[in-house]
Amino acid sequence: MRLATSMSRLGVESAFDVLLRARALEAQGRNVIHLELGEPDFPTPAHIIEAAKRALDEGWTHYGPTPGLPELREAIAATVSRTRGISVGPRNISVVPGGKPIMFFTLMALLEPGDEVIYPNPGFPIYESMIRYLGAKPVPLPLEEKRGFSFDLDLFRDCLTPKTKIVILNSPQNPTGGMIPPEDVARIAEMLRDRDLMVLSDEIYSQTVYTAEPPVSISRFPGMLEKTIILDGFSKTYAMTGWRIGYGVMPTWLVDAVTKLMVNSNSCTASFTQRAGIAALTGPQDSVAAMVAEFRRRRDAICKELNEIPGFRCAVPLGAFYAFANVTGTGMASKELADLLLQETGVAGVDGGCFGEYGNGYIRFSYATALPNILEAMARIKRASVGWEKLAPVK
Ligand code: PLP
Repeated sequence: MRLATSMSRLGVESAFDVLLRARALEAQGRNVIHLELGEPDFPTPAHIIEAAKRALDEGWTHYGPTPGLPELREAIAATVSRTRGISVGPRNISVVPGGKPIMFFTLMALLEPGDEVIYPNPGFPIYESMIRYLGAKPVPLPLEEKRGFSFDLDLFRDCLTPKTKIVILNSPQNPTGGMIPPEDVARIAEMLRDRDLMVLSDEIYSQTVYTAEPPVSISRFPGMLEKTIILDGFSKTYAMTGWRIGYGVMPTWLVDAVTKLMVNSNSCTASFTQRAGIAALTGPQDSVAAMVAEFRRRRDAICKELNEIPGFRCAVPLGAFYAFANVTGTGMASKELADLLLQETGVAGVDGGCFGEYGNGYIRFSYATALPNILEAMARIKRASVGWEKLAPVK
């Protein structure tokens, strides 16, 4: 029996591959510092866990409405309206098992073979995977280190064609931690307003930011709300990666399409998990602030250390919890170096090339681990750098 040919067009998420290799080394007794995975190392806040336990006791253990529990959709609509400065209601909300299914379902609902999709590169690998899977044409938009890992707006304009069906934006961004400057978001909105296309605005890191002002969502600009799908969820903001709950904010006609895909796949998101989601959004937010403060401390430490490693250079990210280090100065290919760091020093990071061709020359280090681990990882890399300094001395 052969798999469907479309399966050959699906990609994978390389951080999980690195994790497997790291675990194999650990099984041999090696000590590995995990800087590969993109998940907060904090426990889910206690009041959210309590809400889930209560929900189980109260019998929230059955099927629920496919687009989500009405109370949760209300809470999401209120939160998103407040944080983005827009006005949406519960009918605009699709609750799904994680942020990822919003990508999967909306792209599936919108794309025809041959449609073009502009997406950030380096970027979350699932964008390109899904675009290819659906037979659409991926149009990579290179992110530039010198622009804080945002993109050139002239280049963006040149990428737009009558076939452009979807533009994917991600800010704060994985893997670079970059953010699209507010004035650029405004100009992008101007360029897109009169076009027949949709924007998938991946805002999963919307609360993990180190700037004074929150990120600006493209949905708030005139004419953009009816063209925008906001992807967000609970995984990163509330350290709930394993609960599998996320949501999309979109026009009602697209909610109906996503609901149809949900009926055909999941039926609904777990009911008690959704009750926990209500507690997350309506309860105290101090644990979110505490997590972001700790991420900021780690960010400052890891960037300082990375910039001291011969051949490394690391811009200070404005959001998310990734440092994207330029390693071209080592004289080694980033894939080769990432492999060497794992094998020789037990430091697991992800080769930037796993996030697309424009990520080559970089390694992503997630700082979602305790500061002493980060410092130990950096010390190990510094010791190993003696090896590549000998091969090609770095000025
Ligand atoms: N979007 C981006 C940019 C991400 O980095 C991730 C997770 O790493 C997701 C979406 C998916 O989040 P979830 O775990 O809620 O599916």
